[in-house]
Amino acid sequence: MSVEKRNVVIIGAGPAGYAAGLYAGRAQLDPLLLTGREIGGQLSLTLDVENYPGYPGADAAGLIETMQKQAENFGTEVRIDYVTAVDFGSHPFRLEAESGAEIEAKSVVIATGSSPRQLGVPGEEMVGRGVSYCATCDGFFFREKRVVVVGGGDAALEEGMFLTRFASEVHVVHRRDQLRANVTLQDRAFKNEKMRFIWDSVVEEILGGDEGVYAVRLKNVKTGETSEFETDGVFIFIGHEPNTQLYEGQIELDDKGYIVTDKLQQTSVKGVFAGGDVQDYIYRQAVTAAGTGAGAAIEAERFLAELENRAYPGLTRD
Ligand code: NAP
Repeated sequence: MSVEKRNVVIIGAGPAGYAAGLYAGRAQLDPLLLTGREIGGQLSLTLDVENYPGYPGADAAGLIETMQKQAENFGTEVRIDYVTAVDFGSHPFRLEAESGAEIEAKSVVIATGSSPRQLGVPGEEMVGRGVSYCATCDGFFFREKRVVVVGGGDAALEEGMFLTRFASEVHVVHRRDQLRANVTLQDRAFKNEKMRFIWDSVVEEILGGDEGVYAVRLKNVKTGETSEFETDGVFIFIGHEPNTQLYEGQIELDDKGYIVTDKLQQTSVKGVFAGGDVQDYIYRQAVTAAGTGAGAAIEAERFLAELENRAYPGLTRD
């Protein structure tokens, strides 16, 4: 297979990747967007989106589809393929994909996002049989059932309260006796009579059989006592991990594993930019991801203009 040569390769198909595609496409850079395995990124774990400006209260799948079409309309080639290796050590950069494709890129925009953090306990592999990382995707299956939510942050409470629409009881298991979630959410959660709290406790094992999950083994971290707690489902919301394994040793990552970027979405390698949750553990919103993805593409265009000594047709900075 011959080596394909591109101006810009965008890795990732969430809001950051599609916004980068839209901007790089409009700049006539003929960008290639490699989707990875999760088209839509974390939006694909959501049913409704009500906080994307201009898109009030509609389905997440529709938003993703619209983003993809808009990028394609301006010339972005969207290809379903998974990047398996990158080499940013020399320019042009090199990428390899699962299909066997080898690509040479003058610039790269990384938009590989983040994924839900796992507990790492036995039984967690029962995803789809009682274990879930997405209330909006799976809550419907727990009508009048008892579920456990693990975590004490905003996501645990927000998703837990969403689950009370279906479940008869939602038990939040938190490893401390104080929640991390903001006080407004805490107030709402404490007032919701379907929400219950199990403090100072961790899930040591998720127990299940052919029929799926039937209980969790809990350990009280203060007393060391263990107990079995019957439940039909376990929803895990303990934060996220950035999808950056591919870039280890290639670009600078921070102590949490996120890509370090400056205000111009530039990584530690000139010509490699990043946008979205892969470089942001603070906001993690579809709209902020789209914003930084667009910024990364604008800067990739500027980088190429300087590299090739052509007029820079985009925005001026300073
Ligand atoms: P988070 O704020 O990092 O909270 C993670 C929670 O999981 C914490 O309570 C943490 O316990 C617990 N935890 C972490 N690892 C654990 C483990 N191995 N076992 C048991 N518990 C564990 O994550 P998040 O709730 O996903 O929120 C992430 C960001 O998105 C935050 O900035 C948040 O404000 C934002 N967000 C906002 C909203 C909203 O505003 N509506 C909704 C969702 C998310 P400790 O407290 O003991 O550390």
